[in-house]
Amino acid sequence: MLIDGHGRVVNYLRVSVTERCNFRCLYCMPEKPFSWVPKENLLEFEDLFKFIKIGIDSGINKIRITGGEPLVRQDLDKFIKMIHDYKPDIDLALTTNGYMLPDTVKALKEAGLKRINISLDSLKPAVAAQIAQKNVLGRVLQGIDMALDLGLGVKINMVPLKGINDSEILDILEYGRENGIRVRFIEYMENAHADSDIKGMHGKEILEVIKQKYTIHKLGRSGASPSFNYEIEENGYIFGLIDPHKHDFCESCNRIRLTAEGDLIPCLYFDEAMSISEAVRGGDIDRAAEILGEVLANKPKENRWSEDENESSNRAFYQTGG
Ligand code: SAM
Ligand code: SF4
Repeated sequence: MLIDGHGRVVNYLRVSVTERCNFRCLYCMPEKPFSWVPKENLLEFEDLFKFIKIGIDSGINKIRITGGEPLVRQDLDKFIKMIHDYKPDIDLALTTNGYMLPDTVKALKEAGLKRINISLDSLKPAVAAQIAQKNVLGRVLQGIDMALDLGLGVKINMVPLKGINDSEILDILEYGRENGIRVRFIEYMENAHADSDIKGMHGKEILEVIKQKYTIHKLGRSGASPSFNYEIEENGYIFGLIDPHKHDFCESCNRIRLTAEGDLIPCLYFDEAMSISEAVRGGDIDRAAEILGEVLANKPKENRWSEDENESSNRAFYQTGG
């Protein structure tokens, strides 16, 4: 079992397989970064897998593949199959912008993927294009339909932004209800890489919009999930809210993050990380396991997004995978 310096059990590993992305979402990566990490710095799937095996053998039972956009990395289905074949009952999930799902989702399902979280910030083509800076909506909706048809577990993530998509909170909720998909609203997390003009909505503002139409009841979190669930009285639909500005979910944080370059990150907010790159490339599994132990020992108690909007992280979401 993996236990961090604050006594929290860590059983969830998020693996970012690339920082590159085919979108330029305003809240994440409005411009192409001045220089991408050189391709040779990226770990091969085989090397990432060496670390994943250490994690699984020590108690990791949930793995989420993310990015950047994970589907721009070739042969992702083969990587998923490696993990699935090593531990078929692992909770194996993917977070994607959905654009490439129509071409890939069948192979991903066959490789052993169980669940997909898809970012859907708008149901209006022009607004979706304004946020992603690309005409994306048609393919994303097609990808969602195909994932549902294949029987994959699907959730939708929406980041409400003031003056951009804040008028669509109820529409996205309705889309989720009609399609039997759980929607999770994510508070915009201020970071140095986002478009400086955007303003996110706080959790309570998001709930106020929903309360104008519905009566909602608090349900609570499922397990260590950062998402707090609410039920709509009128139709029984359940949605989630991820509100890192309150950071009360930090006390049950169960996750660590591995980037495509091999940086092991203990908390999404902070810059701290340790590299396992040299160890796994050299086949030094003991050293990689030791680094994992050190990172866990130094995992921060909580993030620093607070009600104060001046608290901004230097971490890029496209590098850590959110
Ligand atoms: N490209 C994939 C996608 O967009 O789903 C996976 C990576 S993305 C970094 C993972 C999640 O982080 C997405 O749901 C995205 O909406 C969210 N995200 C990115 N930047 C964010 C920010 N500044 N605040 C809140 N959520 C953010
Ligand atoms: Fe790409 Fe996802 Fe970031 Fe959007 S949120 S720019 S899709 S990594």
